[in-house]
Amino acid sequence: MNNVGIDKHSNNDDYREWHRALVHSTIKMVLEPLVDLMRTGIRLYCADGKERLCFPILCQHIGDMEEQWLLACMKKPDCPKCIIINPGTQLHDPRNRTIRTDAHAANARERQKHGEITLRELMDLGYHKTKPYASEFPHNGILDSLCPDLLHGVSKCFSDYIMKRFIWPYMQYSWKKKGVAASLLRMEFDSRFALVPSYMGLRRFKDGILTQNHHWTVHEHKEMMKVTLAVLAGICPPDGLELLREYLHIHRLSHYHVHSEESLGWLESAISVFWSILKRPTGGFIKAGLITNEFDVQRLHYFMHYAESVREKGSLTSYSTDRTEIWHKPIKSAFRRSNKGKDSMRFILKEQSVLSAFQSRLGMLDLDESQTNGTDSNGGNSNGVDANGAEKELEELSDKEDSNSDNEELGLPREIGTAEQITALHKSEKAILWPRNARPGFRQISTTDAESKTNFGNANFSKAVKQYLLEAHPGDSSSRNEFITVSIYSNITIRYPLWTPAEVSAHTPESSEMEKRREYKYVLPGRYHVAKEILRAGVEEVYPRRSCVLVSTPERVPRGQQNSMSQRRVAQLLCLFTTRIENAIFLQLAFVHWFETKGQVSPSTGMYTVRFTSRFGVIPVDKIERGVHLVPKFGSEIGPTTEMKKKIDAERDEKLIKEGELTKSNVWLDVYAHYEDYLLNNWIDPHAYKNIF
Ligand SMILES: [Zn+2]
Repeated sequence: MNNVGIDKHSNNDDYREWHRALVHSTIKMVLEPLVDLMRTGIRLYCADGKERLCFPILCQHIGDMEEQWLLACMKKPDCPKCIIINPGTQLHDPRNRTIRTDAHAANARERQKHGEITLRELMDLGYHKTKPYASEFPHNGILDSLCPDLLHGVSKCFSDYIMKRFIWPYMQYSWKKKGVAASLLRMEFDSRFALVPSYMGLRRFKDGILTQNHHWTVHEHKEMMKVTLAVLAGICPPDGLELLREYLHIHRLSHYHVHSEESLGWLESAISVFWSILKRPTGGFIKAGLITNEFDVQRLHYFMHYAESVREKGSLTSYSTDRTEIWHKPIKSAFRRSNKGKDSMRFILKEQSVLSAFQSRLGMLDLDESQTNGTDSNGGNSNGVDANGAEKELEELSDKEDSNSDNEELGLPREIGTAEQITALHKSEKAILWPRNARPGFRQISTTDAESKTNFGNANFSKAVKQYLLEAHPGDSSSRNEFITVSIYSNITIRYPLWTPAEVSAHTPESSEMEKRREYKYVLPGRYHVAKEILRAGVEEVYPRRSCVLVSTPERVPRGQQNSMSQRRVAQLLCLFTTRIENAIFLQLAFVHWFETKGQVSPSTGMYTVRFTSRFGVIPVDKIERGVHLVPKFGSEIGPTTEMKKKIDAERDEKLIKEGELTKSNVWLDVYAHYEDYLLNNWIDPHAYKNIF
């Protein structure tokens, strides 16, 4: 059509105004029955058994940025929440902006209608002339009901802006000045991602990121965010790391389910520091020409409204498109499988009905939920949508060791614990559960036999067990025996609540009957708020992974400045075992290799450095707080990690050839054998972020 000089009507202003008006009149028609109730109210039975007169109001209209402009009848790229009052100034500074309201919009449209301002002037204020569907609602308008969207905001901007436009080009710029070729930098970057040790639920990028020439999903970007800071420490210029750190703070804090004024203060401070680093006139981003002083993008600008939105409407996670986006998926997939022609709509409808019929049948079955899943430390429900609505990638849990053992462990009853542990579990406190049986061949064996059957390297297991018994149970004679009998287990499962004491408050005598029935006021204890991790001690050939854990050491007298690691230590599990001493006392213990914590957190990355020591020891497993993710300190040079990756790959290949298992591609890479210093990755999940800082 364009070839014969006919303009496409979709490019025409009148057409777009007509289209906008059509969308709004349709929504208005659908909501018509509710509008009457907004005036007259409706009698509703409430959960406390009382009847109340309720008035529905438009509180939230969830949508991405494009949808928000359409819903508000606003011109791009203006912000639905504020108006620029000092053009040409620093637009990320709140002082140069003022709040935008529905009244402002209604007034401007009225004035345009009566000829007091021109259409051009109306547009300059940010508005199209079509009235939004909610303009006649008695209580609330559309501008008020639009709010920041985490999925297309802070989550998606990580790749769209932070990595693609700022960090990676900035790294290339600074290394080019030092005469390092971009290709070498790319290899170092990818090798580092590839050598990040595996961790339960963490997506591994075993071939790096830049070499992968495909589209990454937002879910994958979230996985990258968990490790990026540790990976880039040393090779990203300091202000680049700082920018990344502030961005990750914004990401973690904006996803909090519960906020206090304190946490909102942190969020606001992170946002303001983020902008000041990015736009510092003498800073690297301006110098490298990656950004101009005028830079202002609505999706990044929206951060400025995050805290205020939480104050008005509650946690951002409850009205982000993470919640709704997942439901597009079946429709998109049905469209792909249709003939994409005139019958495609009918095909999609049919697919939908089949799915919902199946779902309602499933709902009738009384499935034992505990069997479905639960390996996701961020919480998830049985249809594969986690608490944030993001789709769960089961593929990475298929990291061979984990999927096999999970199946193996699914036979019920699969775990045992002491009565106290089981009670703790039901109260959603920390609980440690052991598999029902010890490893075959490792039941009731002597510590010296255990040593010969297991590779403890240069650690002396028998000696450590004896020494522990001597110190912890001095009156007991077991430690004087030549042999101590132990049963060795391959793993334990640890569960712990994901909330912090500050986020919950127990009920008070004044609480209502309803509240008293609940244990906590703000966070309902449920299994989705409880993390479950499998900790391994690598006794098996098939699952050689040895988990690293956070051990509580309240008896230690902290030296120097106190911090969140003062009474904690990191250790790697070498063996999980039980033993019985006199008077039938049953002990659940772990043999560990200790790390030492080196000083305070690094200001640039917010992480502690831990280093392998030459000390080994035995601890009661109850001292374990949770598993931790350690990332090697790769250093500040370009090249060594590339070499290390080649070396580790060669070792793995050699091992595979020796064992005649060339087909098995997913062998655990024992990165721990090659590095001494590690960063304690507190960005891995919200619980680590809140507790290790
Ligand atoms: Zn704004």
